[in-house]
Amino acid sequence: MSSMPIALAGIGKIARDEHIPALNDSPDWHLAATISRNAEVEGVRAHEDMDAFLADPGDIRTVSLALPPAPRFAYAKKAIAAGLNVMLEKPPATTLGECRILQDMARDAGVTLYASWHSRMGAAVEEAARRLRGAALRRLHVDWREDVRQFHPDQDWVWEAGNLGVFDPGINAFSILVAILDGRVHLTRAEMVVPDGRETPISADLEFGHGDGARVSARLDWGHKGAPVWNMEIETDRESFVLTRSGTGIDDGQGEIDLGGETAEYALVYARLAELVRGSGSDTDLRPLEMAADAFLLASRSIGPPFEW
Ligand code: NAP
Repeated sequence: MSSMPIALAGIGKIARDEHIPALNDSPDWHLAATISRNAEVEGVRAHEDMDAFLADPGDIRTVSLALPPAPRFAYAKKAIAAGLNVMLEKPPATTLGECRILQDMARDAGVTLYASWHSRMGAAVEEAARRLRGAALRRLHVDWREDVRQFHPDQDWVWEAGNLGVFDPGINAFSILVAILDGRVHLTRAEMVVPDGRETPISADLEFGHGDGARVSARLDWGHKGAPVWNMEIETDRESFVLTRSGTGIDDGQGEIDLGGETAEYALVYARLAELVRGSGSDTDLRPLEMAADAFLLASRSIGPPFEW
């Protein structure tokens, strides 16, 4: 099958770390244009904003939006209105209301809308889901800790209202949780700590209800120092294991088995986008964002020490 041209908007951290390498290696796509106010990619046609791109999209029918969620909504609406297929980085939008508008617009325009969840592509996620099928879950604890300075250096937008704070990585855990528990889980309690002078949380403790009455909980922490911890401790009536490193490894207690590393996630995301575009389908699972939104609805908040980069 021939490679399709794609435009990439928001040439920032995740575009350079993951999107551009994945597109360069993709059998399905080639990067034909960028949309970014401050950055370009050598050898690729560059546009300053979505309007400039849409004035002359050439043969490009698909655009991938790697911007932060707040500016992404306006870009997504313009692209869909122009009849283009759209891929959204996670989280798909700032609010569920925005997501619904994008879903409706994409349906009416007959274009593909893909709300991507890169962590769900982790190599061990399907293995964890397989182990859970037919077993009775007893306990699941999400332990999701990382240093915000490592993954979002100087990105002040992460602390501004309308963004998710520690739920930005936490929503990656939610995307896996929803997938491996087949959606039979919902948030019941949340406590969050917001740094003094900032608008979004740096840590959160969560409890969930589960169809089998299992104890499901989560600890999210952006103040963590050192290597990230992205684990899910899982106990069923059959076994105990840990889904490690953001859904890429399994530890049965006798050492960790790496099932393929994190690097393939974006290759799989772009393969899924190609499948959707070729089949004229959409994939917009909003349940991880619903979980984060429920946390903001339910949470008791306390003020923590100020955060400085
Ligand atoms: P970023 O580097 O701060 O932003 C990406 C780019 O978006 C910026 O370089 C900027 O490009 C453009 N942009 C920012 N604000 C804009 C505005 N108001 N209007 C138009 N363009 C704007 O952020 P990022 O870390 O790449 O994150 C982007 C998305 O990827 C987020 O949704 C995040 O959750 C997700 N993500 C991030 C990571 C990570 O490790 N950082 C991992 C996975 C997913 P120009 O200034 O050149 O226009």
